[in-house]
Amino acid sequence: MYDYLIVGAGLFGATVAHELLLRGKKCLVIDRRDHIAGNAYCKQMEGIPVHWYGAHIFHTSDEKIWKYVNQFSEFNNYINSPIAIYRDELYNLPFNMNTFSKMWGVRTPAQAKEIIAKQIADEGISEPKNLEEQALSLVGRDVYEKLIKGYTEKQWGRDCKELPAFIIRRLPLRFTYDNNYFNDRYQGIPVEGYTKLVERMLSGTQVRLGVDYGKEKKELDALADKVIYTGAIDEYFAYAQGVLQYRMVEFEHQVLDTDNYQGNAVVNYTEREVPYTRIIEHKHFVFGKQPKTVISREYPAEWSVGKEPYYPINNEQNQALYERYRCLAAKEEKVLFGGRLGEYKYYDMDKVIASALRMVESL
Ligand code: UDP
Repeated sequence: MYDYLIVGAGLFGATVAHELLLRGKKCLVIDRRDHIAGNAYCKQMEGIPVHWYGAHIFHTSDEKIWKYVNQFSEFNNYINSPIAIYRDELYNLPFNMNTFSKMWGVRTPAQAKEIIAKQIADEGISEPKNLEEQALSLVGRDVYEKLIKGYTEKQWGRDCKELPAFIIRRLPLRFTYDNNYFNDRYQGIPVEGYTKLVERMLSGTQVRLGVDYGKEKKELDALADKVIYTGAIDEYFAYAQGVLQYRMVEFEHQVLDTDNYQGNAVVNYTEREVPYTRIIEHKHFVFGKQPKTVISREYPAEWSVGKEPYYPINNEQNQALYERYRCLAAKEEKVLFGGRLGEYKYYDMDKVIASALRMVESL
């Protein structure tokens, strides 16, 4: 009945479905949730698109991908400039001259560089063996203690000494007064939310929600010549080789009777003692003028089978296990695997779309 069964209506699945439709293929997209757009899903509350599974800020340096997503939605000119709160102190992110000036009372890049260089030298670390040593050797003690240690330990549920250095190898220090979190050429938020964007990508394709592929695999497989699977790769194989680990996030969404709660879309709480990592105030992603506001507190948590997975923990042990699953996946004649869960990869949205486009080219 169908050329392709696409399992998962997130960005990967929707991109593949759109491209295959353009090439005259007949696709069925299924998702076990009751909505499309995967973790980019936005729920309208008080007239505000609420990023239901955590903040999604689109950023890319790839002009082709930027043009691609702009076909489906107008994007605004939102620039992500998070604030970090540590006890009673407030700093700008990413680490830049505003941060350093607040922390040490300095004004010039030369003064900031001198302080950081001295703090790095004081640590005397030549070969960083873990995330803590890596961070200390890149930014020094003050920035590490106030802005990295607590946040990272909450986020990953492990002591920074037990986390691999690679998580934080890329820690940009910027010696200008520029609070733009991302270095990419293009950035913005779809003005009507991501659900609308994905809905347009899926326009013309049949979508069935609330359908669990694992439970009805045989019947569903029989409907199509090929399957594109974007769910968790280990789940596909019934965890036969072991369980891949994830960090998850629990959200506390709240409507507040104020028009402006925190003055910024993203406020990180970097001290260990505050149980959540950040508070998102969604209206600021779209410069909303509604009388009320919606905020979401993010509580990181350990994931277990049956819960919603968020962040793949791409350490050595999990990568080795993923490789075993990848070999099994390569032997599946009818099924192709893709996306964050199918490839077990901490993917940004632009990279997911690029990867989906490559898959379609390869077909
Ligand atoms: N991070 C940090 N302090 C912060 C924000 C981030 O130390 O205030 C570190 C932390 O280890 C985190 C990583 O940077 O896991 C990436 O965080 P980001 O918010 O950029 O990624 P997201 O969670 O939005 O994918």
